[in-house]
Amino acid sequence: MKKWMSLMMAAFLAVPVLSGCGSSTTPGATEGKATTEAAPQDENTDIVVIGAGGAGLSAAVEATNAGAKVIVLEKMPMVGGNTTRATGGLNAAGTEAQKKKGIEDSQELFYKDTMKGGYDKNNPELVKILTTQAKDSVVWLESMGADLSDVGRAAGASVNRIHRPTGGAAVGSNVVSTLKNQVKEKNVDVRVKNKAVEIIKDQEGKVTGVKAENKDGKAYTINAKAVILATGGFSANQEMVISYKPELKGFATTNHPGALGEGIRLGESVGANLVDMAEIQTHPTVVPEKGVMVTEAVRGNGAILINKDGKRFINELLTRDVVSKGILDQKDGVAYLFFDDGLRKGLKAVEEYFNMQLVTEADSVEELAGRSV
Ligand SMILES: Cc1cc2nc3c(=O)[nH]c(=O)nc-3n(C[C@H](O)[C@H](O)[C@H](O)COP(=O)(O)OP(=O)(O)OC[C@H]3O[C@@H](n4cnc5c(N)ncnc54)[C@H](O)[C@@H]3O)c2cc1C
Repeated sequence: MKKWMSLMMAAFLAVPVLSGCGSSTTPGATEGKATTEAAPQDENTDIVVIGAGGAGLSAAVEATNAGAKVIVLEKMPMVGGNTTRATGGLNAAGTEAQKKKGIEDSQELFYKDTMKGGYDKNNPELVKILTTQAKDSVVWLESMGADLSDVGRAAGASVNRIHRPTGGAAVGSNVVSTLKNQVKEKNVDVRVKNKAVEIIKDQEGKVTGVKAENKDGKAYTINAKAVILATGGFSANQEMVISYKPELKGFATTNHPGALGEGIRLGESVGANLVDMAEIQTHPTVVPEKGVMVTEAVRGNGAILINKDGKRFINELLTRDVVSKGILDQKDGVAYLFFDDGLRKGLKAVEEYFNMQLVTEADSVEELAGRSV
């Protein structure tokens, strides 16, 4: 028998648009080398990477491949950052996976969609890099064992373009475990619970290294030829969010708890200019009390949004800002994502929402309507 399901969505939350966990024994992540007895010694390396999310781990893998000695500092007890939380998929145009499915896409269309989604405020040069090179990222990740063979639709895209693991499983954990395996294989020195607290410059203003705190809170210095700042976003820092966009006061976040923006301050301290800080994107389908974001792949695979009167009120695949506003304009600022078990079979990522008991299910639409809160 067909089953019908609904998921209640309320006001939304901040997700960084562009930026780029468990224990100290996380594969590919090694504890800081300092001991509790003595003050840690200064060290020398070629490159320090600050932050072990997708960007930092990718940089570490490539720098190691190019022959550099690399130290990665990660302040949290595990690697992955927000990248682990990414669920929907990785946008890329002109990939083999798209071709196999007969999807006609181009880098030009990807560029157009991206600029349109950003109301042309985007930096065209960066969007060009994203839209022309994302395809190579897919090839690169797949060459290391990532599974990006399934292609789905995301809001704001003209064609199916988000790449994700077989059966529509979550993308971030797949990408992070691929990168973790790589750093482990290459013996990259990845130090969790080690936080960068200062970027050091010499008298000429050249960056020469990093001051860090190890897992015991002891300070040490790493002298390096280059420092790569890959510290991600700041949406878990409510104060900082409000300072740039006051209207987001009270919004919950789906970011990982380490997304506090310290890296942005580190950059500023050595003279970096900040741009577009108020361009904080909100996501339409979020369960704010739980800090859970429901991937837009659910809408991409066919779920519709209905309001408390059971009425569909918007094209679910419009851009996030438009759909977010659409939901907030409904009674009590909430809506339900409504889908059947056909969607569930084709999109493994939704299992997580069942596991978290966010979904109400029933054997008929009438029964479901009676049960939904
Ligand atoms: C719920 C959710 C779903 C998402 N879904 C998608 C999606 O489907 N597709 C998509 O393309 N994007 C998605 N995104 C966005 C995407 O996850 C991010 O843009 C991307 O992961 C950013 O990667 P990053 O490496 O720059 O940052 P992160 O992955 O956040 O890594 C930064 C790391 O730096 C560490 N760090 C910070 N400061 C310091 C310091 N001082 N010292 C040492 N370490 C430090 C942090 O702890 C963190 O581990 C999603 C985001 C969220 C929150």
